[in-house]
Order: sequence, then C-alpha cells, then structure tokens
Amino acid sequence: MSVNANVYHQLRSELDTQGVTLLAVSKTKPVTDIEALYQLGQRDFAENYVQELVDKQPLLPPDTRWHFIGHLQRNKVKYIASFCHLIQGVDSLSLLQEINKQAHKHQRVIDVLLQVHIASEETKFGLSEQEVFSILAEAPLYPHVRIIGMMGMASFTDNTQQVRTEFLHLRSIFDTARERFSMLSLSVLSMGMSGDYRIAIDCGSTMIRVGSLLFGARS
Ligand SMILES: *Cc1c(COP(=O)(O)O)cnc(C)c1O
Repeated sequence: MSVNANVYHQLRSELDTQGVTLLAVSKTKPVTDIEALYQLGQRDFAENYVQELVDKQPLLPPDTRWHFIGHLQRNKVKYIASFCHLIQGVDSLSLLQEINKQAHKHQRVIDVLLQVHIASEETKFGLSEQEVFSILAEAPLYPHVRIIGMMGMASFTDNTQQVRTEFLHLRSIFDTARERFSMLSLSVLSMGMSGDYRIAIDCGSTMIRVGSLLFGARS
C-alpha cells in the first residue's frame, strides 16, 4: 500500500482548521489505494480520464464523491452524468450546454466549476476572464447545471512568486464574479496541488487537489 496515513491525517488537520476541502486525486492509482484512503475517512476523489472514472466508480462505496478534473470532451459527458459530484473543468459554453442536457436526462442538477486559464503556458485549458463573465451571465438558461465556483492551475515552475501572482489573479476574478453575480452561489475556489497548495491557500483557495503527496509519485 502506498498511501501514507500519517501524511493524510496531518494534511487533513492542517486543512480542517482553515476550512479547506481536500480532494484526493487518484488518477492512475489502483482501487486498493483509493479504498485505503476511504478507510481513513476521505470521501472526495478526483479523476481526469472518463474511462478510468467510469471503471473505478462502481468499485467504491456509494457515498464516495467523484470529481472530474480533466479536460472533458462533450461526447463523453453522458458516461459520468449519472453520478459525478462536481465537474471541475468546464472550459466552454458548449460543454456547459451538454452537461445541462445530460443532467436533465438523469433528472439531476450537476455542480460545476469554470476552469480559468491563469498559467503562462499555452497548453493549459481554460477560459479567459471575459469568457467567464459571459458564461456566468448565461447561467440561468441552464437550470440543470449549477456553477458553484472556479478552478485553475498555476504554471509549472519553481518560481513561487509567479505561482502566487497567478493564484491571486484567479482569486480576484472569483471575487469580482461573486460581486457581479451575487444571485449565483459561487463559493468554491479550487486551486493548489501537491507542490503549491500552501501558496494557493494563502491566496484564498477553498479546495485543493492533491495527488502525489497522498498516493506517491505517478509513474
Ligand atoms: C494530476 C492533477 C492534480 C494533482 O497533482 P499532484 O501534483 O499529484 O498533486 C491536480 N489537479 C489536476 C487538474 C490534475 O490533473
């Protein structure tokens, strides 16, 4: 077993005092590792490939909350719409529309986060600030999705000042959106991973997505 119980309990107590939610990123990890963390009390898990999520979901207890944090293709929404707790990577209006449609079919309302592009790398997915505001303005048209916040990834760099600046940028977009769209319930700011979660919390994160720190390095 590669799950380290001490690391988990320490992280949880650190986060609990700050009111930050821990999301365990279990991508590429075996179900036995997920079960081990579940036994320690963890309930929120995240995957970033649809097939892997669909394979693992039935093997864990039904009160496990599954988050999708990868780039979601529209034609794959239907595979996770019946059970996904929070879809974190909404990066286009057309994806939001498809989630609304599939959620309707399952007579659910699916919670989502808008993914915002904050990193300097071109390759990372995400919306611009303008796109965020235009999607938020249209949110009432899609009653089967509930936009509850935003998600972002900082640049992959050792430059902690740059990481901090990027997280603060997302925080300011989030704060502006909360003011301008006070009728929505924007409450979740998902930012921070194993290497930068303390900076992210410092910048106002309410949910961190931690993989390698909990499960060990991915091969
Ligand atoms: C893999 C992944 C993480 C976790 O990364 P670690 O560095 O292993 O903590 C967090 N967020 C997203 C979107 C990921 O794809």
